[in-house]
Amino acid sequence: MKEKAKKINEIMDEAGICDMRYGVKGMYIWLPYGMEIRNRIDSMIRGEMKRTNHGEVNFPLLIPENYFKREEEHIKGFSSQVYWVTHGGDKKLKRRLLLRPTSETAMYPSFALWIRTHKDLPLKTFQIVNTYRYETKQTRPLIRVREIHFFESHTAHDTFEDSEAQVREDMGIMERLGKKLCLPYLLNKRPEWDKFAGAYYSLGADAYTPEGRTLQIGTIHNYRDNFARAYNIKYKDEEGEEHYAHQTTYGMSDRLLGAVILTHSDSTGLVLPPEIAPIKGVVIPIIFKGKEKKVMDFAEKLHEELNGKGFVMDDREMTPGSKYYEWEKKGVPIRIEVGPRDVDENSVVMVLRDTKEKIKVKVEDMSSRIDEELDAMSERLYKKAEELLKSRIVRIESLDKRKASRKIVRFSWCGSEECGHTIEDALDMSLLGTGSERENGRCVVCHKECDTIAYGAKTY
Ligand SMILES: [Zn+2]
Repeated sequence: MKEKAKKINEIMDEAGICDMRYGVKGMYIWLPYGMEIRNRIDSMIRGEMKRTNHGEVNFPLLIPENYFKREEEHIKGFSSQVYWVTHGGDKKLKRRLLLRPTSETAMYPSFALWIRTHKDLPLKTFQIVNTYRYETKQTRPLIRVREIHFFESHTAHDTFEDSEAQVREDMGIMERLGKKLCLPYLLNKRPEWDKFAGAYYSLGADAYTPEGRTLQIGTIHNYRDNFARAYNIKYKDEEGEEHYAHQTTYGMSDRLLGAVILTHSDSTGLVLPPEIAPIKGVVIPIIFKGKEKKVMDFAEKLHEELNGKGFVMDDREMTPGSKYYEWEKKGVPIRIEVGPRDVDENSVVMVLRDTKEKIKVKVEDMSSRIDEELDAMSERLYKKAEELLKSRIVRIESLDKRKASRKIVRFSWCGSEECGHTIEDALDMSLLGTGSERENGRCVVCHKECDTIAYGAKTY
């Protein structure tokens, strides 16, 4: 039987990711090791944006009230979560300002200035910034926070077809990132009542964690011309005729790391996918009296060789056991142990973080073996998470709450809001939305014939 996994706060604390003792609820202090992991995820995203020709921008944190109030649906969706700035020093501001909860309303007045003709399209931008939302639900580090480290891409296109092509490109990016972070997920088209405020439709990427819930790790929205109409974003075609632009957005946050921690950690603590591990491995000399120099010299030579691969050496005066435990809690993928016998045999013992398997490797094979083992570990972590996700999906023909517990339920749904809410209430879970597959069946509530498959689960 598997030991119980630790709680996310404990894992983050022991790994040195965040200090959670800050004076504002839902805001946390990022520590050096946590920042290194976060920066790696950001670089991965920046790499994908560069590959797909998005330009990085940085808009101000403060948004004037009149910018914010132009798109009605959007205001309805966000106004209860907004932090307002009402004073400058002692003076009450004539025009209130808000901290961006997301950046549509900051960016789109500028899009209206930048976009003139069809030659300005597509416009593909992104930024990685902090956003602020006054969460009223229980806050939880990385999962539900009030200061969100946020990636958002915003694009504008001449036609709806071109904006749909952008959505497909975003889906491809999400897939590549999911692979690197070892996070499989379901992509669901959110129901009308749960789409992004102001969107034509929203897609959500839902990862499944061993806690028995799904966690939204990314969203892709097609706005059609909803925001363009509110913000007057128009372009002239070749004939000089004016049209509204079509827009999309794609968002992700520090929930990506939250999902990694919840998905891959074990009873010892953090297990990091090799791609985002700041330290790929650690060399630990095991010192015996009288053999110190022999082992240290050997270990130093190894470390020199592995330095370029992101390996560090731990020669502190501590017992090997306590060092092992410390690095395991940091999720470092590989440990290299060197004792006097290994020196004699010109070999090392390699220990893998996820399986805790010990492998004896000849020094001449060590470097290539490390590359192989890191790749294999990524593959294994992804597969394991994918198997868990798949094993928890159950098809239901009736609203049986016991059958749905800790599961992702899959069912036929006629698409009506009434039936949707009946399902959510009866199973005490959220309707994640509809998948892309079609299957003939009858709505699990009203029994009307339909071919739409929907998913439901407990969410965070
Ligand atoms: Zn129905």
